[in-house]
Amino acid sequence: VLRVEGLYKSFGDTPVLRGIDLEVDQHQVVVAIGASGSGKSTLLKTINLLEQIDDGRIFLKGEDISDPRIDVDRTRARIGVVFQQFNLFPHLSVLDNVTLASRKVHGVPRAEAEATAVQWLERIGLGAKVKDFPDRLSGGQQQRVAIIRAIVTNPELLLLDEITSALDPLLVGEVLDLVTELKAAGSTILMTTHEMHFARTVADHIIFLNDGVLLEQGPPEQVFGDPREEATRQYLARVH
Ligand code: ATP
Ligand code: MG
Repeated sequence: VLRVEGLYKSFGDTPVLRGIDLEVDQHQVVVAIGASGSGKSTLLKTINLLEQIDDGRIFLKGEDISDPRIDVDRTRARIGVVFQQFNLFPHLSVLDNVTLASRKVHGVPRAEAEATAVQWLERIGLGAKVKDFPDRLSGGQQQRVAIIRAIVTNPELLLLDEITSALDPLLVGEVLDLVTELKAAGSTILMTTHEMHFARTVADHIIFLNDGVLLEQGPPEQVFGDPREEATRQYLARVH
């Protein structure tokens, strides 16, 4: 679904991504780990075309979305994104938050968009909250609504950046459970997390970023159980 080739990105004189090659296959969950500042968020932002790249190419289902002539809005509509901070619109109800993109960007009729949204919201136990505004929800509930909003348009790829790091520890589990559910439902996901236990459980493939370089990758058993690189060992020793 996603192929990244030779991706370079600097902020001013500071190189942040230095030649990243990466693939995410259909229905795969790839988890990016690495120290703060290693470039994880920047990688996700370049894929969502929120940051311009200096060199390299990014292919979504074979289409070069790093081509400057690409339609940015149309490309973004193919990718679901959830960031660390709750990104719900405070002045819209839960239902309107979830249905806005499918109605306005994808042209789904209101009744159909709302039926899909309600189905999902009921499934995650928020059926009673559809008319509420985001500030009436807990952080975990808000983040789950943000995830539902990202998936109701059936994105080809889901990018999740530290979606639990702003949460009360008690609320982390319910958000991660939803990711596990999406994986079971066949979503294709590239995510970052500092929750190593979760990464190990949910990931099909782990990538370890070190100073903007994809230093090591492999199945979770290998990267966590028997890392090849000293930097990976050190990072894992610190976060465990
Ligand atoms: P964390 O685990 O803390 O989220 P990260 O791996 O996501 O870290 P990035 O946010 O990608 O790291 O940042 C990588 C580097 O790029 C950091 O040194 C950061 O200071 C720098 N950086 C990120 N965004 C910008 C920006 N808009 N302008 C300048 N420098 C930036
Ligand atoms: Mg980050």
